[in-house]
Amino acid sequence: MPLKQCTYCEEYFNGVTELCPKCSKNLDEIFARVKKFIYSSRTEVSIAEITEALNVPEKAVGFLIDKGRLTTEHIGMDNKCRLCGAPIPSNATYCKDCVNIVNKDLGKFKNEMAEMKQTAAKPTKEIQPLRGLR
Ligand SMILES: [Zn+2]
Ligand SMILES: [Zn+2]
Repeated sequence: MPLKQCTYCEEYFNGVTELCPKCSKNLDEIFARVKKFIYSSRTEVSIAEITEALNVPEKAVGFLIDKGRLTTEHIGMDNKCRLCGAPIPSNATYCKDCVNIVNKDLGKFKNEMAEMKQTAAKPTKEIQPLRGLR
C-alpha cells in the first residue's frame, strides 16, 4: 500500500486518497453541518460565525473552501487579501497565494528599504533653484 500524506492533518497513512480516513470522515461531517448551517441562515454568514456556532475549527472551514466544496458565495468573507482582494478568513492578511509572494519578496523589500535609508541619510546635493524664468 502506498504511503500518502493527508492534505489536512499532514499525517502519513496507507491509502490512495487525499485525506486520511479520519480526516475524510471528520471533514465530511463538518461539511454537512456547515452546509446545513449556511442554508438555514437567511443572511450571509461569516467564517467566524460558522466556527462559533458549530464549534468547528477554522482550518476545516478554510480547507473546505480551498477544495471548492464550500463556495465563498455562501460565506460572507469579511476580510480581503491586501494584495489581490481575494476573500480570506478574518484573521488573515493575505490569501495563500500572496503569502508565498510576500514571504519571497520580503527579503528583497527589506534590502531595498535599507538602501533607501542609506541614501536618504547621505547629504544630497542641494538642488539649484530654477533661474531665468521670466
Ligand atoms: Zn488526516
Ligand atoms: Zn492574494
